[in-house]
Amino acid sequence: MPRVLVIEDDPDLGRILKASLERAGFPARWERNGVAGLTALREDPPDLLVLDLGLPDLDGDEILARVRATGDVPVLILTATRDLERKVTLLREGADDYLEKPFHPEELFARLEALWRRKVAGRRYRVGGLLVDREAQRAFFGERPLALSPTELELLALLARRPGRVFSREEIVAAVWPGDPPRSNALEVHMAKLRAKLARAGARGYLRTVRGHGYALVEPRE
Ligand code: CA
Repeated sequence: MPRVLVIEDDPDLGRILKASLERAGFPARWERNGVAGLTALREDPPDLLVLDLGLPDLDGDEILARVRATGDVPVLILTATRDLERKVTLLREGADDYLEKPFHPEELFARLEALWRRKVAGRRYRVGGLLVDREAQRAFFGERPLALSPTELELLALLARRPGRVFSREEIVAAVWPGDPPRSNALEVHMAKLRAKLARAGARGYLRTVRGHGYALVEPRE
């Protein structure tokens, strides 16, 4: 079972969460503030993170930004807000899911299990003859390895996660350069290089530019 780190300052909720997660089979660690949470993330990286937004020392947003800058642990946010815009922002900033307080522990377990399934299944993506192995940081077209830079591989992996879906420029920038958007047309330059490398390997027509919207990876029709 995946190991869960809970960062929650409410002592009753923290205690209940740790105990009930462990009863449900998730080995759990509980930290009561942002600084201790960041230390735990660094020293004992969990498989899943449950993060309360309102902490006494650091903002949950700040922790989320730091987590996203350094890794891809799935993050479920606990929030008291009913503000839809705020939740959309959190998802854009790299949260994988959120739960409104108060919630039922069963719902938390179900969501954590779903996040874990997605993560385990989500390490390799196949679109037509393209295979992106994010964990091994490699990509292939047929048998042929593609010589991609880490950024190109991240871009390809992001698009390959949902073949056919158009990712907006903003979404791509938020996912690939969290908290540190590149200047001017860096995304376009990386995409052009990626497209050229795909074409050189024979993977033509996979990377689509949807003018005014963004980019998509598709399996081209013969
Ligand atoms: Ca709180």
